[in-house]
Amino acid sequence: MVVTSIRLVAWIAVQAFVVRESAHPCAKVRQRPATNASSKVCIAPGVQVTGIGVAPFWRHVRLANGKSGWLPKQALAASGAGGASLTTTTITTAGGVAAAEDMWLTVHIVDVGQGDGIWIHTADDGIPGNGRFEGRNIVIDGGPNDADGRTALLDYMRSQAPDDAIIDALIITHPHDDHYPGADAILSHYQVREYYDPGYPSTSSRYRAFRQRVAHETVDGQPITQHIGLATFGHPDWGSEVDVRFLYAYPGSPAGLGSDNTLVNNASIVLRIAYGSQSFLFMGDAEGKGRDQGPAAAHYAEERLLANPGPGGLHATVLKVAHHGSETSSTIPFINAVDPQVVIVSSGRRKYGPRYLPDTSTLHRYCTHNPAIRIYRTDENDAAEHHTRNTDADGDDIVVRTNGVALLVEAHSAGLPFNPTTCSWN
Ligand SMILES: [Zn+2]
Repeated sequence: MVVTSIRLVAWIAVQAFVVRESAHPCAKVRQRPATNASSKVCIAPGVQVTGIGVAPFWRHVRLANGKSGWLPKQALAASGAGGASLTTTTITTAGGVAAAEDMWLTVHIVDVGQGDGIWIHTADDGIPGNGRFEGRNIVIDGGPNDADGRTALLDYMRSQAPDDAIIDALIITHPHDDHYPGADAILSHYQVREYYDPGYPSTSSRYRAFRQRVAHETVDGQPITQHIGLATFGHPDWGSEVDVRFLYAYPGSPAGLGSDNTLVNNASIVLRIAYGSQSFLFMGDAEGKGRDQGPAAAHYAEERLLANPGPGGLHATVLKVAHHGSETSSTIPFINAVDPQVVIVSSGRRKYGPRYLPDTSTLHRYCTHNPAIRIYRTDENDAAEHHTRNTDADGDDIVVRTNGVALLVEAHSAGLPFNPTTCSWN
């Protein structure tokens, strides 16, 4: 990609905030933007502070006495006093979309064992309400709950997100046990503003109970806004710098989408997010073929996607591969359309058919398409580490960051960075 220009925004400060009444009796000022950081000061509602920096879920603030620290973002409201200022140097991008050198969109694909649990944080300029770089938080699926009630996604988020933090959108791709149960814990600890559901008529009593839970939760005293079915999703505004499109969800009829678990997988919400010249495609468990079919032609949800939005609308630099890398997804026409540079597999120690996920034949298809492709897996080293259960999760988390131009991937296994799977075995 040739970068002809980018727009550089340097945030030079000064946003006045006031501590909200909801922080009663007081909001703890922490020394770092982390829930376990020490706190020596607690400030009461109504007190004014000055914003001087940002981190996901936090504002770096200066107090009246000149000292500084970190307050939870949801404890603060913008105040009329002061005012933010930006210095802007405009260059331009090849794609014509303004990007900012230090404005990072971050996607955390958390190792939840067998399942999906994803947290997305959009860039944050610390200026609430200016319509871009708003620091939105989006959760896609919650992973499974294991028998101990431990949820890897919640554990991951709690280190950064204080209780009652705002989750702007919770998206449940489809009603399978490796996707939604962990979201129950997200509802318990955070305030969810909008809920997206494919609207598949599941008969699962556990899922119906989950939906009841969503219906009874509130955010700032109001019910969660629920979007049930693709027709209700619209075009979410997560900041004007990102283009968010829901490409697919259960079409309302099971015709042509298989049966049983295959049908439920093919109800999955498919979401594409573009930021500058980089883009992400989140596939849920949408499938492309039966087990007895070859990969040359696309069926099921992949066939629908190739018809609408069509190959041009599917392209993504980063693909969260469908259905944990099973052989029933990722047909060749689909891979050709997406043409990803980075493939993320979220899977655990689970056999699907005769082989463990992700299926080697699926990985081979990506490597055949592009031998330089980089594949990152949340089941990194799990076989060697003798993981045996679906829910075994040991922190093989993958973090992808982009400022709209550059793309960075950080992956850790047992605390050590790991490299992508290369196609050298191809
Ligand atoms: Zn799944």
